[in-house]
Amino acid sequence: MPFLHSLLAITLENALRYIVAAGIAWWLAFRWCRARWAHRKIVSAAPSRADVRRELAWSLSSLLVFGLVGALTYQAVRAGSSRIYFGDPFADAGWFVASIVLTIALHDTWFYWTHRWMHRPRVFRLVHRVHHRSTNPSPWAAYAFHPLEAVVQAAIFPLAVLLVPMHPLAFVVFMVWQITFNVLGHTGHEYHPRWLLDSWLGKLLNTPTNHAMHHELFRGNYGLYANVWDRLLGTNHPDYAARFRAVTGRERAAPSNPPA
Ligand SMILES: [Zn+2]
Ligand SMILES: [Zn+2]
Repeated sequence: MPFLHSLLAITLENALRYIVAAGIAWWLAFRWCRARWAHRKIVSAAPSRADVRRELAWSLSSLLVFGLVGALTYQAVRAGSSRIYFGDPFADAGWFVASIVLTIALHDTWFYWTHRWMHRPRVFRLVHRVHHRSTNPSPWAAYAFHPLEAVVQAAIFPLAVLLVPMHPLAFVVFMVWQITFNVLGHTGHEYHPRWLLDSWLGKLLNTPTNHAMHHELFRGNYGLYANVWDRLLGTNHPDYAARFRAVTGRERAAPSNPPA
């Protein structure tokens, strides 16, 4: 496929995933289930229209950057300069799963360290502030990055295919995982059960509360999928556990018009 075709195809594919994931999350959390899920809203106010418009505009610009980096990565794969393999994806089902888990761990590590770097004052002012203009983000903030941050985020495409031997289908599964987790982290609702934080799973997994606090307070909670780096480096916000318990401990309000 010529470069321009792959640029167009990859941009549209990423745009479609973003619109479907963020659109479903937006419609569920702020329309269909707004009242039913109100007790799980981490920040009480809804994101403003201006916030959503800005998040959409920056996300569209990021999609162009992702398309460009994606198309360059695709050319590298075609030239044989990657560890992508073809054929039956399930010939080695164990490795198929392991390659996805490894890519998720690689992305989580890449995100944590580059995110901390982007919180250095100069880099923050120049680059990362765009993402932090949403102090109460909506699902549409998932890709709301300055173009330079979009390049840093998109670097996971070449990193993954250069470092992890994987089938293209495993890469697609990873991409679905990343947009789903990313959108959930910006939807502003805590969907995990209250017991999670006291379990080993809660020590491992990141939560929407963790990322909502990052947007609200600007400091601490730098992780993406896992809470491991934040725990190891002591960068969880000191109020994280208390906030999670407060949000997940609220009772669901009774319906305003109970059936007769
Ligand atoms: Zn940040
Ligand atoms: Zn964010």
